[in-house]
Amino acid sequence: MGDRFQAEQRFTDGAQFIGGRLVHGTSGRTQDVVDPATGETVLTYELASTADVDAAVAAARAAFPGWSSATPGERSDALHRLATVLAARADDFAHAESLQCGKPLKLSAGFDVPGTVDNAAFFAGAARHLQGVSAGEYSADHTSYVRREPIGVVGSIAPWNYPLQMAAWKILPAVAAGNTIVLKPAEITPLTSLMFAQAAQEAGIPDGVINIVSGAGAEAGEHLVGHPDVAMTSFTGSTAVGRRVAAIATAGVTRLHLELGGKAPFVVFDDADLEAAVHGAVAGALINTGQDCTAATRAYVQRPLYDAFVADVAALMETVRVGDPFAAGTDLGPLVSHAQRDRVAGFVDRARGRARIVTGGEAPGGALAAGAYYRPTLIADAAQDSEAVQSEIFGPVLVAVPFDTDDEGIALANDTPYGLAASAWSRDVYRTGRATREIRAGCVWINDHIPIISEMPHGGYKHSGWGKDMSAYSFEEYTQVKHVMYDNTAVPRKDWHRTIFGDRT
Ligand code: NAD
Repeated sequence: MGDRFQAEQRFTDGAQFIGGRLVHGTSGRTQDVVDPATGETVLTYELASTADVDAAVAAARAAFPGWSSATPGERSDALHRLATVLAARADDFAHAESLQCGKPLKLSAGFDVPGTVDNAAFFAGAARHLQGVSAGEYSADHTSYVRREPIGVVGSIAPWNYPLQMAAWKILPAVAAGNTIVLKPAEITPLTSLMFAQAAQEAGIPDGVINIVSGAGAEAGEHLVGHPDVAMTSFTGSTAVGRRVAAIATAGVTRLHLELGGKAPFVVFDDADLEAAVHGAVAGALINTGQDCTAATRAYVQRPLYDAFVADVAALMETVRVGDPFAAGTDLGPLVSHAQRDRVAGFVDRARGRARIVTGGEAPGGALAAGAYYRPTLIADAAQDSEAVQSEIFGPVLVAVPFDTDDEGIALANDTPYGLAASAWSRDVYRTGRATREIRAGCVWINDHIPIISEMPHGGYKHSGWGKDMSAYSFEEYTQVKHVMYDNTAVPRKDWHRTIFGDRT
């Protein structure tokens, strides 16, 4: 077992980061941060009140004139320095993330932290690369150009599954574009968002540009979304909460960016490389203990390969080592909380009798009994309209369903309200080409499932939301476009004035 991050010692001054300082929340209510591997509380902190949200928004508002008028080069330099600080603190971040989420250290250290560093480097570059149509005389008498400007104070809300990466995906494009931000992490996983803000301060990003309010969704979250001084809301979380956030933002006519739930299909055609598909399915379903919005969740397998796929996936799942996130050799940690584990177990229990639980379907006992663990689970032969196929389980559970024709495979893949990500597996370029065109999702992988890169957009179709994280597309979302038009003629009475003055011009 490795060293555990000492959360109580790190946050004695509180778990709110407002105007460049750690302070205590003032809601009068406390929240525990629990290590899901052991069930032990590692930090108890005071939740943010609505007054704390007001203070954070005021700090962000005060910082906006200075930060938004910094040159792109100055903002870029600051983000490059942030990337350097994040990389220097990589171990610390990985330990904190594993502690609060239960992720195996190899996942935090090998994916979450380097991904965040790379994102910071990417947005440092993006800050200097504002784009728009060329200035020019689109009307003979005028010169037009476009200004791409920051929006103001952004209010962001993040989920618990990738707290560090979600903080990075929200904060980096916003501040690269010259906005200031108040981020509310999920109340059970605030540690690495607070550390990210501290790293930004160390990198010289001015106080007030990045603020963190660790508060409850219904109190701090709703207050942030409805705040009159918040010009844009960017939310990542479940579709159900996204609906509520959208309603509040719409009432305030606040610009909105939504990254919501997913239920990614994994379509295996009968000419696919079975070994590749089986390994891809197990890794794609189990990454982050299945708590990944793009995780492979619905494996549609063409009939000739179906039985072999089910048998091989089950056998491979049984080799996955479930255990202490800090132990060398652990492949799969616990879920983020006991509540999430019980929720996942509920889905599997309700599927029993209606589908086949091929492997898993239980929490391990023994030394792991105190943690929020659940065994890798394969459910086969589920009905397309069943809950296991249609609902986001968000745990280490893959559902397999057979199909006959290519038409049917693609239709089944599209048959949920979600559209975040999907994959298609085949050696035939025409089949995969068709899948990329016809599957309604924000990302379609071919012969792989999960990889993401800073340069490419991540975001949903359908009920998986709208807007993009990462990439230049995300950067653009945190800007607004202004058309500036100059008269070039110095003529007091313009030809178009005829529309008012008729032939008197
Ligand atoms: P959640 O929707 O329960 O909570 C997300 C955030 O919203 C938390 O910070 C929570 O405190 C806050 N919140 C809750 N109620 C609120 C309210 N009434 N008003 C304002 N804020 C409120 O989601 P979760 O359980 O933390 O995370 C899992 C979900 O996130 C899954 O559905 C997953 O698919 C989704 N997710 C999506 C993406 C993506 O990029 N599309 C990425 C990661 C996670």
